[in-house]
Amino acid sequence: MKSMARGVRPLVGAKQVKASVRLLIVEDEVRIAELLKHGLEAAGFAVDAVRLCADARDVLSVTGYDAAILDLGLPDGDGISLLSELRASGNRVPVLVLTARDAVEDRVLGLDTGADDYLVKPFAMSELVARTKALLRRPGGALGVLLKSGNIVFDTIGRDVCVGETSLSLPRRESAILEHLMRRLGRVIPKAVLEEKLYGIDDELESNAIPVHVHHLRRKLQDAGASAEIHTVRGVGYLLAEIR
Ligand code: CA
Repeated sequence: MKSMARGVRPLVGAKQVKASVRLLIVEDEVRIAELLKHGLEAAGFAVDAVRLCADARDVLSVTGYDAAILDLGLPDGDGISLLSELRASGNRVPVLVLTARDAVEDRVLGLDTGADDYLVKPFAMSELVARTKALLRRPGGALGVLLKSGNIVFDTIGRDVCVGETSLSLPRRESAILEHLMRRLGRVIPKAVLEEKLYGIDDELESNAIPVHVHHLRRKLQDAGASAEIHTVRGVGYLLAEIR
């Protein structure tokens, strides 16, 4: 991943969506890929997009995606072959196949090969988002429903955070950091892992980005009266622990 260009786009700030779940789009039609990326980002996901099977192989080999959206007709190969390769190598990333081929045989082939769902083009963005969320909710999927640490409750699908009775409105990356900390309550998460989870391959990454987000998040949790707090493990990362 380090070899891929970071720094193409500046951090956008307030307008950016809350991300924690990371998705891969494999789609060669630029217009559709852009639509997908915007739609899924607006729904709260971190999204990377590639247009070739070869690129998909590269990024999938180094990045743990929570789900992938896979077009079948790609310039350097067939999405179905890519999918069967992935499954043969033991990669279980949930895959939503996107295809213009609406023949029943193609759907069956896709599901037999290890696709978890499919959607026929043209599709409504709202349906794609709903199907993607459904994939992530499946057993083994990335989305738990409610995470709880002390009096902090995180609804990972609605992206709502409550501390006791107080609803907390968090920017995308703070919310993502909190989710990861809550998923590993009491365990240290290395800073590098947070960086990998939080930033898409196009995002510029400043060296102090994570500490700054953690600083703000910690302050907000304290102010809201949270009964869990973020500890910094110097030189390693962060952990969330309940206050006893
Ligand atoms: Ca295509």
